[in-house]
Amino acid sequence: MNGYKVFQDLHTHTYYSHGKGSPRENVLAAIECGLEAVAVSEHGPGHFTFGVRGKKLQRLGEELISLRREFEGKINVLRGLELNVMDFGRSDCPENRGDYDVIILGYHKSVPPFNRHALGIWGESLLGIKNDPHRNAEGILAAAEKCRADIISHPNLYLKVDIPYMAECCRQLGILLEVNSSRVTLSEEEIRIICKAGCGLVISSDAHTPARVGDFALASEAVTRADAWDFVKNARKVQ
Ligand SMILES: [Zn+2]
Ligand SMILES: [Zn+2]
Repeated sequence: MNGYKVFQDLHTHTYYSHGKGSPRENVLAAIECGLEAVAVSEHGPGHFTFGVRGKKLQRLGEELISLRREFEGKINVLRGLELNVMDFGRSDCPENRGDYDVIILGYHKSVPPFNRHALGIWGESLLGIKNDPHRNAEGILAAAEKCRADIISHPNLYLKVDIPYMAECCRQLGILLEVNSSRVTLSEEEIRIICKAGCGLVISSDAHTPARVGDFALASEAVTRADAWDFVKNARKVQ
C-alpha cells in the first residue's frame, strides 16, 4: 500500500488490565496479521485503576513465557510492560526489569498522587508553577533513562511535552518515540522534527482487544503524511 510493512506490535493490552482478550488471543491475532513479534505490554503496577501488580503480574509473565515456547517458529512472543511516570524522574519500574523484553514508559492519569499538578511538578499547579512542556519532557526523560525504557508511548497525551528536546534526548539514549495507532498524539510537523533529530519511531496499535492487534492504520497515515517511514524501526520496505 505505502510500500512499508510494520512487522511487530510491541504495545498491546489484555484482560489482565482493562483490555478484552487474553494474551493467547492477542498472539493468535498477531499471527493472523502476519506479524513477526507481538508483545503484551500491560499497565505497570503504579496505575491505580488498570495497573497489573504482584502475583498477577508474575502470572502474566509466566503465561507469556509459555506462549513464547508454544508459538516458537510462528511468532516471537515478547514480555512487555507499559510503565507509568509516577513523579518527576520516577516510574513504577519493577525490580526484575531485566526479565522484560520491552519496556514502554508513558504518562497516564490515575497515578497516585492523583493530581501531580498539586505537587507543582507537572504544571498549572496550586503553587503557581506554569505547565512547562520542557520540564514535563525532562521529568519523563529522567524516568525513562532510569528504567532503561525502550519506547516512550503516546508523547503529548494528557501532558504536552517539548518534542524537539525529547527527540534529541531520545536519539542520544536510543529510546524510540511511539506513533500510537489508537490515537495519534504527534502532529505531522512534530513527526518531521523527530526524524530531523535522527530519533527513531515505533508504530504500535495499543490494542485493548484482539481485533485491534496489528491495526496500524492511523499511525501509518500519519507517518506517510510526514514522509517518515525510514525512521520507523519496526517497519521495513516491501516490494
Ligand atoms: Zn498508555
Ligand atoms: Zn497502552
